Amino acid sequence: MVCEARGVTERSQAVPPVLARVPGQPTAVAFLAGAVARPHHAYVFAGPEGSGKAIAARAFVAALLCRAGGCGACRDCRLALDDRHPNGFVVEPEGRDIHVDTIRQEVWHPAYRTPAEPGRKVFVLREADRLSPAAADTLLKVLEEPPADAVFLLLSARAYELPETVWSRCHAVTFAPLPEGFVVDRLIEEGVAPERARLAARLTGGNLGRARRLANDPDGSAFRDLAARALELAATGPAGALAAAEAVLDAAVAYRRGLRAELDAELAPFLDERGRPEEAYRGAVRRIEVRFHRRERRAEREYVDRVLLAASSILRDRIAACLGVGSELLMNPDRAPEPVGSVPAAVAALASLEAARAELAEQINLNARLVLEQAFLLTAPTAVG
Ligand SMILES: [Zn+2]
Repeated sequence: MVCEARGVTERSQAVPPVLARVPGQPTAVAFLAGAVARPHHAYVFAGPEGSGKAIAARAFVAALLCRAGGCGACRDCRLALDDRHPNGFVVEPEGRDIHVDTIRQEVWHPAYRTPAEPGRKVFVLREADRLSPAAADTLLKVLEEPPADAVFLLLSARAYELPETVWSRCHAVTFAPLPEGFVVDRLIEEGVAPERARLAARLTGGNLGRARRLANDPDGSAFRDLAARALELAATGPAGALAAAEAVLDAAVAYRRGLRAELDAELAPFLDERGRPEEAYRGAVRRIEVRFHRRERRAEREYVDRVLLAASSILRDRIAACLGVGSELLMNPDRAPEPVGSVPAAVAALASLEAARAELAEQINLNARLVLEQAFLLTAPTAVG
């Protein structure tokens, strides 16, 4: 059942402040604003990576949990916008899939229970196309007999992969890709220097969330610096390639350790003065911890991927420069690409990095060290200028 957003704008008096802040998606926002007062029980947010589905979902959750329909300032809004509301449940893939146990424990059980705080319960399933078949079946049972006080949001960049049976119980909200220029303007509005904004938008392929993190992170270019250093090391020969793999893995471990401080900050509002969870919030605290540990397990993999992606972009620029492509089309327009000895060899090196990324993304139990060493060994003979 696909709902048309047309006509909703006229019906809804005003867009709640919390939804008004969702960037670049006026149609989706108008539709959601019209749905706040009497929400359907399930929605699919469909749209490419970085189009703002997660931002819109947080805002919609806030609007559904806020007593004023999404004021953007109260405790309910603030917690919801932070993914920390005790009545808000966020489910993400663990490894490659969303498993059936996860759906049972984090959706099915809480859906039929009384929530921690009075009001609705809202469930957000990120990357919902990764539901395993058994997990999708369990979710379907909930969607077929939805509790009156629950709303389910399924987010997906590959919504066509969702089972038809799940689709048929949801209303669709579509998100268009954000143009690079929009991302640049938005970052500049937020106070980012124009050149940095353009670079961040380019490096993240117009993904607003990632572009913002990159632009505001003082360490934002660390990935590229590390990638450039790893390529340099690999260029010195086999020993250098092994050292390059080592350097990337060390940095990934340091990154994972740095996440700890974030967990402490997330939990603080739910702990008593002795640092123990307050009775009413045991469930919420446990969920935040589970989600954190999941994220922690993924952190090293994601970090490695970002470095490999940066290394790919550097090689791509070298190849492009060699072929006479202008600097406005480079992935790293702020850095002059080094010359390559042989274009076919550089293309092969680029392919080896991309193959490593694909392998690491597909197989969660793969030994990252071996994959990285192999990839850098293959880039070694080609990275020499
Ligand atoms: Zn509010």
